[in-house]
Amino acid sequence: MPSTYNGGCLCGAIRYTIDAPITGLRACHCINCQKHTGSGGSVNAVVPTDKFRITKGATRKYDDSATRSGRTLSRHFCENCGSPIYSQRNPNPGFVVVRAGTLDDKSGLKIVGNIWTSTAAAWSHIDPSTECHPENLPPPPPKPA
Ligand SMILES: [Zn+2]
Ligand SMILES: [Zn+2]
Repeated sequence: MPSTYNGGCLCGAIRYTIDAPITGLRACHCINCQKHTGSGGSVNAVVPTDKFRITKGATRKYDDSATRSGRTLSRHFCENCGSPIYSQRNPNPGFVVVRAGTLDDKSGLKIVGNIWTSTAAAWSHIDPSTECHPENLPPPPPKPA
């Protein structure tokens, strides 16, 4: 399993590096991700904030406050080509959620979990052998000291 991943937007203005292994992807079927991506939702790698860095360009962000949790989610995207790149909760809980379709190398990566399946588009195929949640995940456990 690689421990470094590179990715970027469609036009190449934004590039990033993840210095961490990606053990599995999580698909989000919420209405907001459907709107943001124009598709069935988002497929994501959840990575520690300090292992993710933008190496070229700068993203714009849309602060999505219309979330069911009431938290504001900053959705970062390329202002030139519109590719969604990552999202981040406020305050940042220590991880960012990177849109897996922007990774250069996706080989071997699989969806291991699905959230917001209760609002999934009728066309979305959800593998029932993965971990499925009708809404969001419970909050992550506190980080070990
Ligand atoms: Zn771009
Ligand atoms: Zn979502």
